[in-house]
Amino acid sequence: MPISSYKPNPCLLEKQIILITGAGDGIGRNVAKTYASFGATVLLMGRTVSKLEKVYDEIISENHPEPAIIPLDLGNLEMVTLTELSDNITANYGRLDSLLHNAGVIGQKTPVEYSDTEEWERVMQINFSGAVLLTRSLLPLLQRSSSASLVFTSSAVGRTPRAYWGAYCVSKYAIEGFALLLADELENTSTIRVNIVNPGATRTKMRATAYPNEDPLTLKTPEELMNLYLYLVDPNNKENGQTFNG
Ligand code: NDP
Repeated sequence: MPISSYKPNPCLLEKQIILITGAGDGIGRNVAKTYASFGATVLLMGRTVSKLEKVYDEIISENHPEPAIIPLDLGNLEMVTLTELSDNITANYGRLDSLLHNAGVIGQKTPVEYSDTEEWERVMQINFSGAVLLTRSLLPLLQRSSSASLVFTSSAVGRTPRAYWGAYCVSKYAIEGFALLLADELENTSTIRVNIVNPGATRTKMRATAYPNEDPLTLKTPEELMNLYLYLVDPNNKENGQTFNG
């Protein structure tokens, strides 16, 4: 079914527990508010607490289910933090219905030969390794859902390389590989479906950093992507191992 004709029920996500990384800004912020408006309890994960608090306040002011704030820097993850996180979610919610890996950084745009190795590592850690570690620790909670959705965010440069996009490009290739590996691994052993979203050029801070000379008004807004993001976590959606483009 084309996403343009998808009409989500206003109660679509009632009683769903959904964790969104990078929920304080850009696309993630819009997704968090949209999922809450369709009834989900959203777990707002990100590194800048003040941004998460703002999203929390906006959700509460609209009388949607009370979200949770989970401060976490994906660039600086420790196993003990991940264990605590999964213990806390288990204690408070008992399961996880969806996990949207959305957080990301653009890093340096420069020839590989001149790239800064520490910056390269940082981008790989946030965009790839952090998402892998988080997935590993939360898989048991997703297994407890009757219809779980695991979504990874890629980019056009995760499928076709673009010169000078360095670690960002490689991290998106890597996350696509991981997503497809998991989709295959979980296909016959669980009800978890694993898909990839490529939002495409969208009016956010990341896009403005990547293309400083571009007029942001020529780009689609995060709001315009929300039907797609709802479809990705729709419990009736059974698609697995697919890529969805915004
Ligand atoms: P933004 O820069 O607007 O938002 C990124 C989010 O990720 C922010 O909430 C940010 O938190 C969070 N984040 C960054 N670093 C960390 C970290 N170390 N730990 C935890 N959270 C972190 O980006 P977009 O909304 O544009 O991008 C969202 C996703 O979509 C990304 O994965 C991006 O690669 C992808 N994408 C975006 C496109 C676009 O045109 N916008 C195109 C293709 C893909 P904070 O604000 O606190 O730093």
